[in-house]
Amino acid sequence: MSTSKTSRILHRLIAMGPATRGQLGTELGMSSATITRLLTPLIRLGVVQILEGFNEDYTIGKPAYSLAIVSSFTAFVGVKVTDDAAFAVLVDLNGTILRKSQVRLPNDAEDVVIDILARQIRDVSMQCAIAGVGIGVGGKVMDGHVVASGILRWNAVDLGGRLQEALDVPVTVSNDVNAFAQAAAWWGAGRGADSFVLISIGSGIGACIVQGGSVMPGEHGSAGMIGHLPITKDGPICESGHVGCARAYASSTCILRNLRERYGIDEGYDDFIDRAKRGLEPESGIADSAVDAVAHLVSAAIAFIDPDAIVVSGDGVRLLEVFEDEFRGQVKAYRHWNGAPVEVKLQEMQFTFWAEGAAAASMERWTQSKIDGKNVTYAAG
Ligand SMILES: [Zn+2]
Repeated sequence: MSTSKTSRILHRLIAMGPATRGQLGTELGMSSATITRLLTPLIRLGVVQILEGFNEDYTIGKPAYSLAIVSSFTAFVGVKVTDDAAFAVLVDLNGTILRKSQVRLPNDAEDVVIDILARQIRDVSMQCAIAGVGIGVGGKVMDGHVVASGILRWNAVDLGGRLQEALDVPVTVSNDVNAFAQAAAWWGAGRGADSFVLISIGSGIGACIVQGGSVMPGEHGSAGMIGHLPITKDGPICESGHVGCARAYASSTCILRNLRERYGIDEGYDDFIDRAKRGLEPESGIADSAVDAVAHLVSAAIAFIDPDAIVVSGDGVRLLEVFEDEFRGQVKAYRHWNGAPVEVKLQEMQFTFWAEGAAAASMERWTQSKIDGKNVTYAAG
């Protein structure tokens, strides 16, 4: 998947703030003629503005005008859909949240959910014109369709097409982890990294590869499905019957089941984390193995991708924080002795950030549509 040069310029200005033409050229590896050619339609359109004297480049002895995004140029709505609620945000081009909303979903019937989402999106955007809507849903998503979602118990639902028809704006539907990675790329821990891998550790385990600000979906939309990779030949068993897979060791669901079955401890994930902070006995083996399994995944991602950074997020980050020294030590031990250093960041997860991610996925598509001023016809997806 290639990212257009125009999209890279927009992405750079949105994520990192104002820059001179010279800076853009150096950072993006483009000639000044290319930068000027690509910027002209964006300035004419009103999405990029020239800030005179903002950041003078004295090296050439005359002011170099700085270029900045006009954050009020347009806005986007992002929605994170869970099994019983939908969280929506209205964001401007700089990712500033202008409004938030949360609605309950009384059931998961398609017609009910789509009606509620359409109403929520109209409300949160205050009936103003928006450039796009992004929806983040757990499960497999392709071309605007929710192919399969365990959380919503949906199969083959044309969520993007139906919402687009109801709202008359481009609707982008994303897997929620991919949407979260998009938010990390634009405004979060991935900001400033040309490439990073987001590894999400929660009730499930997933990963997402981001290159040049764009999520790499894979040839079949399945890139990053790392949850069932084997870690050991024995050990706990996941819901799919795998012995010693990553999910069996490190997902919150399997950790809690292991505690119940092996130690007769029936507790929630928050309680487990609280106890881990105080020092677990004798079930600390469960926490140690979970941390070790994540370290395996992180070092494998580094070995395959060699990214600028790895961002680990999800509920499970709290467990990694408790055992951070051990975790970082293991990642180091599993890595190639000669590999370049790669920063590993731990980032907690919040619902608004998931919704921002969905908005970022819509924004990413919008920047892609700005290719050389061409009008790109949007299709849901
Ligand atoms: Zn498994």
